[in-house]
Amino acid sequence: MPKEYIASIRRTKEILGKYGFSFKKSLGQNFIIDANILRKMIHAAQIDQNSGVIEIGPGIGSLTEQLALIANKVIAFEIDQRLLPVLDSTLANYENVKIIHKDFLKADLHKTIKENFAPDLSLHIVANLPYYITTPILMSILEQQMPIERITVMLQKEVADRMAAAPNTKEYGSLSIAVQYYTEAHIVMDVPKTVFIPQPNVISSVLQLVKREKPLVEVSNEDLFFSIVKASFRHRRKTLKNNLVSYFKETYTSEQINNVLQTVQIDGKRRGESLTIQEFALLANGLFAVTDIK
Ligand code: SAM
Repeated sequence: MPKEYIASIRRTKEILGKYGFSFKKSLGQNFIIDANILRKMIHAAQIDQNSGVIEIGPGIGSLTEQLALIANKVIAFEIDQRLLPVLDSTLANYENVKIIHKDFLKADLHKTIKENFAPDLSLHIVANLPYYITTPILMSILEQQMPIERITVMLQKEVADRMAAAPNTKEYGSLSIAVQYYTEAHIVMDVPKTVFIPQPNVISSVLQLVKREKPLVEVSNEDLFFSIVKASFRHRRKTLKNNLVSYFKETYTSEQINNVLQTVQIDGKRRGESLTIQEFALLANGLFAVTDIK
């Protein structure tokens, strides 16, 4: 156990000073200086000695250190070359940590998992995400259907709220559906700006996504399902039917759309934001059934 964690204001300032490190806003560099927040996050993630953890963006190693103290193994992807010597030194005592210098979005995660984790470990993603790419990072993990049990990440509250939103709320939209199609999503806690250096402009949240064994709904064609979702939220004030007719004018006649809405018993005068994921699936499967090109 170290005398003082990296996630403290004193050690963080000392490390930054020693290396003359200057933050790059373009890389979403806001480092955590409160070990309690990190421990709460790791507790919520249910990390233990049987966990293999992938971290995105270790920074100077504040979260990585807390993970290393509890998990079996931690693999962390860091894009900023300047942080490599820093991490080499701050995490020198943790043999169960491996840093990979790579843009996470370009990493072959299947290969990383196969090469680095024993097959019996339960796999997790735990990260304080670089905020400029939270959605692409999470969607790429979900769409690739990685064998990851739980994703517990810090991100801007506004995006976390949208990912975990329920129908009939202003946050509910295509992002909520994309995330909840693959996972059960909930907000673990909100995190004040004061636990970061430098302080970000927005409030953050810890979001947890628990992978479903199979997607929440069965759809005949995923592309069509997600296009219908997108179309339905395109103009939030328009009715569902009007959104669908204008978006799919090259593919379906308005009569076809009307007929399908009637068959699946969804009132076309409703707004997209009132439909559950199950209703979107009914609609998508109904429209797929009348699609010519399959
Ligand atoms: N984990 C540290 C903490 O909690 O204090 C730092 C988190 S900071 C919000 C985000 C980190 O992600 C930075 O270290 C940044 O350099 C890194 N990063 C940004 N874009 C990245 C990418 N595409 N792939 C991997 N790391 C990235």
